Amino acid sequence: MGSPSYRLAAAITIPSTGEFLVVRQPRPPSPPAEEGEDYRRFVDSDLYDLPSAPLEPVAGEPRSEVAIAGADSVAGLDLSRFDVSAALDQIFDRFGLPDGMRGEWRLLKYVEEAEFGPDAGVKTVFLIGSLLSKLDALPESCKWMTKECALGLLSEAKPGSDRIGQYAYIGLLNSELSSNSTAVPELPSQEYPPGITLVPMKSKTLQPFRTTNLVVVRATNASGGSTCSDFFACGDALLLDPGCSSQVHAELADLVDSLPKKLLVLVTHHHHDHIEGLSVVQRCNPDAVLLTHQNTMNRIGKGNWQIHYTAVTGGEKICIGDQELQVIYAPGHTDGHVGLLHVNTNTLIVGDHCVGHGSATLDSRSGGNMKDYFETTYKFLDLSPHVIIPMHGRINLWPKHMLCGYLRNRRSREASILQSIENGAQTLFEVVSKTYSDVDRKLWIPASFNVRLHVDHLNSQHKLPKDFSLEMFSQSSDDFLSSL
Ligand SMILES: [Zn+2]
Repeated sequence: MGSPSYRLAAAITIPSTGEFLVVRQPRPPSPPAEEGEDYRRFVDSDLYDLPSAPLEPVAGEPRSEVAIAGADSVAGLDLSRFDVSAALDQIFDRFGLPDGMRGEWRLLKYVEEAEFGPDAGVKTVFLIGSLLSKLDALPESCKWMTKECALGLLSEAKPGSDRIGQYAYIGLLNSELSSNSTAVPELPSQEYPPGITLVPMKSKTLQPFRTTNLVVVRATNASGGSTCSDFFACGDALLLDPGCSSQVHAELADLVDSLPKKLLVLVTHHHHDHIEGLSVVQRCNPDAVLLTHQNTMNRIGKGNWQIHYTAVTGGEKICIGDQELQVIYAPGHTDGHVGLLHVNTNTLIVGDHCVGHGSATLDSRSGGNMKDYFETTYKFLDLSPHVIIPMHGRINLWPKHMLCGYLRNRRSREASILQSIENGAQTLFEVVSKTYSDVDRKLWIPASFNVRLHVDHLNSQHKLPKDFSLEMFSQSSDDFLSSL
């Protein structure tokens, strides 16, 4: 896991107008021009957030050059151990903020991120400082915004519009909304964007992850109007992928008990690390209704779920109080895999189609398919989501960048698989060992699923060399996979 890192985020406000300063966040580096065709077609919209910088520990004697009011009041945080002035310098230099903004700072919030993995969580120190009036000279990348405007951009998101990031919401805005109630305080969680809470829960999942994100959707206003007739399904709360292992089933039960009784449960696909807690949900709330694809339902054992089940095929609209969601059929990882679009915030919950770090694997034994995977990726791109939520790892705030990266990686793996076949590789093991020689051997098993599907995909495009025997390859795949 490594040791946690720290970050400092600064809320600079004008009390008389209620505005605060946001800065346009730097984009991740774009790929070389010759392979960036998709990237040029799809580009993420601008992301604005509080200015922030890494907060580094001071070597040697503690010191504190900047006085932070209220800093003593937080248990577990000793700001004198950190170089606050260097972090503030970085914020001012990086965003070209004028010196007139430096002033008195007060501790606004201290937030320890839940452990999404694979690395340790980030701990964020939020400071707040105020100005008497707006300054004349502000760099082009910065702007003043009211809280109402920022909440509007977050909660009534339109594809292509400016976006508001996590620091602004978690540090400054979420106290404006009535919900932000994570059910069980002992479970570290994160609410972003508004209405969606992620609870990373211990699960038996693939390395490098150790948790599955349990997603909880709740109404952000108290009066849930869950009788709306033009919806496929309505509820007062929605749980997604209760896949935690038995060690945390007691915590899951507490969470389910704290949720409204009119509960919908959606599972993106049947893998163990997405359904292991289903029986707990059903025991705590026998009236809960499970929504999932028929192919997934067929693979979920009776021991996990017995009653109230509704099949979805994609396109269904779901309402949770004032929150609207839409089921997206998203095959590729498996043939019953679905995603979910949170319409209010234009957030796409992608199941295992993407993961927070590294690349996703496809399950060739459960209808995983490379052509479907590419098509689903383009379907996701066309939705222009503002945020991607994977079930393993952190959320991603550069969805198009991420999805285009997945397309590029898959294409380049496919090209190297074809090359190793052209160079004489005949069996699954030969292809895997040549194509993934740069990858930890422990990952060869999941990689072998993908290789098999890439070879099918190459075959369907008539790209395999004439002397390559698909029968022999398939036989070697069966032998290899059944030996696991
Ligand atoms: Zn999976």
